Amino acid sequence: MNLLEGKKVLIFGIANKRSIAWGIAKTFHEHGAEIGFSYGIPQLERRVRPLAAQIGVEFVEICDVSSDDAIDALFAKAEAHFGQIDILIHSVAYAPREELTGKFLDTSREGFAQAMDISAYSLVALVRRAAPLMVDGGSIVCMTYYGAEKVVPHYNVMGVAKAALEATTRYLAAEMGEQNIRVNAISAGPIKTLSAAGIAGFRKMLKYTEERNPLRRNVSQEEVGRSALYLCSDLASGVTGEVIHVDAGYHILGMPEPVEEL
Ligand code: NAP
Repeated sequence: MNLLEGKKVLIFGIANKRSIAWGIAKTFHEHGAEIGFSYGIPQLERRVRPLAAQIGVEFVEICDVSSDDAIDALFAKAEAHFGQIDILIHSVAYAPREELTGKFLDTSREGFAQAMDISAYSLVALVRRAAPLMVDGGSIVCMTYYGAEKVVPHYNVMGVAKAALEATTRYLAAEMGEQNIRVNAISAGPIKTLSAAGIAGFRKMLKYTEERNPLRRNVSQEEVGRSALYLCSDLASGVTGEVIHVDAGYHILGMPEPVEEL
């Protein structure tokens, strides 16, 4: 069954084949969506274009989401190419590497502002331009992490930015509902990607969760992709403002096993 037949999708945040956004793109392609990609920096074009070619994506455009001019230019091109859009995926985050190690107390003013701008405010900026193109209603999904809810070592300012992103999801959902635009977030468990590699101790985090998750394994890009498929299809037509955990169950644990090692 093709759940996204005829749907037009803009995906922000494909850096390479490990990106969560690539897992989403592959799944959406299998379900009949017409897809456009946006990537953040010129150096990534040589990685993104071959991925686009694999699934017949013609619209591949650069857009720095910290620039209103760049976002305006991107949406002008998207309107010219697609006419209207139905789905927007926000899979973008950034904090300076030095903010993702050491103490949260040492977070700089600049690092804090940049993490909030690129990782949280950008959702507002993208939705404001996407909404007029969602003439038949739409679905928006962003990517968050458990570090928004609880303290996770080294996640630091990104946890604060993700908390803002989750609140942004709810505020946008409340306002966009009248236009039948749904806004949801997926809270993914740790997955080895380019961004994740910037978090100090990430490999240990992967091992820790793999051993303790209720499912006793970590999740894959494709599993996140299938949950995004649910949220963006009619299967979730009554769901908005939600944060869905795709984390092999980690978030339900109060005291992760194996306790004898604690
Ligand atoms: P990724 O492949 O490195 O993707 C992150 C994307 O953000 C990259 O494509 C990057 O593009 C883009 N980006 C950063 N700054 C940007 C800017 N100013 N303008 C436009 N794009 C920008 O890593 P990922 O793990 O798949 O991350 C995707 C999302 O999932 C993020 O929101 C992340 O926080 C979230 N998430 C990840 C995990 C995990 O464990 N991997 C878990 C939960 C949630 P450029 O490099 O070109 O700037």
